[in-house]
Amino acid sequence: MRSPIHEYLTELLQSCEVVQGGAPASYIPELAEADPSQFAIGLSAVDGAVYCAGDAEVEFTIQSISKPFVYGFALEDLGPEKVWDAVDVEPSGDAFNELSLEPETGRPMNPMINAGALATHALLLPGGGVDARVERIRSGLSALAGRELEIDEQVYHSEMETAYRNRALANMLRSAGNVDLEPLQLVRGYTRQCAVRVTTRDLAIMAATLSNGGVQPWTGERVFSARVVRQVLTVMTTCGMYDSAGDWLSTVGIPAKSGVGGGIIGVLPGQAGIATFSPPLDTHGNSVRGVGVFERMTEDMGLHLMSVP
Ligand code: GLU
Repeated sequence: MRSPIHEYLTELLQSCEVVQGGAPASYIPELAEADPSQFAIGLSAVDGAVYCAGDAEVEFTIQSISKPFVYGFALEDLGPEKVWDAVDVEPSGDAFNELSLEPETGRPMNPMINAGALATHALLLPGGGVDARVERIRSGLSALAGRELEIDEQVYHSEMETAYRNRALANMLRSAGNVDLEPLQLVRGYTRQCAVRVTTRDLAIMAATLSNGGVQPWTGERVFSARVVRQVLTVMTTCGMYDSAGDWLSTVGIPAKSGVGGGIIGVLPGQAGIATFSPPLDTHGNSVRGVGVFERMTEDMGLHLMSVP
C-alpha cells in the first residue's frame, strides 16, 4: 500500500518535472553524458523508513556531497583542533573552485569549497598513501549508506583528464604549506572521493544519519558523534550551497549540500534526511529541479529552520 508520504513525493516529482533550464556539468566530460530527464526524490525518517519517487535506484557520482561527510571523518579521526588549523569555517561567497586562501592564515575559507575539501582530504590517515585515504572514505561513506559503495572508474578517469583547476588548488595548498602531500597524489585521492557512486535512496539515508545525530538508522552504527554532526550541519548551513548559500538559506532554510553529479541532500535535524537527483545544474552548480523540489517542500511542510510556528 502506498503511504501518504509516497503519494506526496510522487505528486511533487510530477509537478517539478515542468521545471526546465540548466545543463549537466560539462567540465567533467563523463558527466556531460548524463541523461537530463532522470529525476528522483528520496526521504528517510530517522527511524530508517525510506520513501522514494522517480529514478531513486539510478547510481550517479556523489561529487561534492562527499565533502561534509569527509569533513566529519576528519573531525572524528583527528579532533577539532587539527581540522580547524587546516581549514576555516567562514562562508566564502565564492564559486566552488575559487583559487583562494585566507590572507591572514593561509587556510581555505571552509571545507565545502574545493580548496577546503582538498585540505580536509589530505588530513586523513597522516603518513598513509592515496589508496588508504580513499578506502577510509569509501568505507566511511558505505557505513553511512548501509551498503558497500563503489568508485566509478570512468568518471574518475574522465575528471582526472581535465582536473587542471583542482591541480592548481592542490599546488596552491602545497606552496602555502597547508598540505605536505604531493599535489597530484592529493588530486587523485580527492577525485576518487568525488567518484563514489550513490543512489538517491543512499543519499536520503546518509542524510538521515546526520539527522539522527550520527547513528545510521538501519545498522545502529554510530558513524559520527553528536558533536561532530553539529559541526558538519553548521558548515552545511553556512557554506553548503556554494555562492548561493544565502539564497538557499532564505528560501529553503535547512542544512544542505549539492554536487555537480546532480544530487542534493538536505537535513532536518532530529527528523529526516531528504535527497534529490536531477543532472541539469544552474550557474552555481546546483541541480535546478532539486532546488525546485526543496523550495516546494519548505513551503508545503514548513521546513525552514528559522520559521516560528
Ligand atoms: N569533483 C568535482 C570538482 O572538484 C566536485 C565539484 C562539485 O560537486 O561541486 O570539481
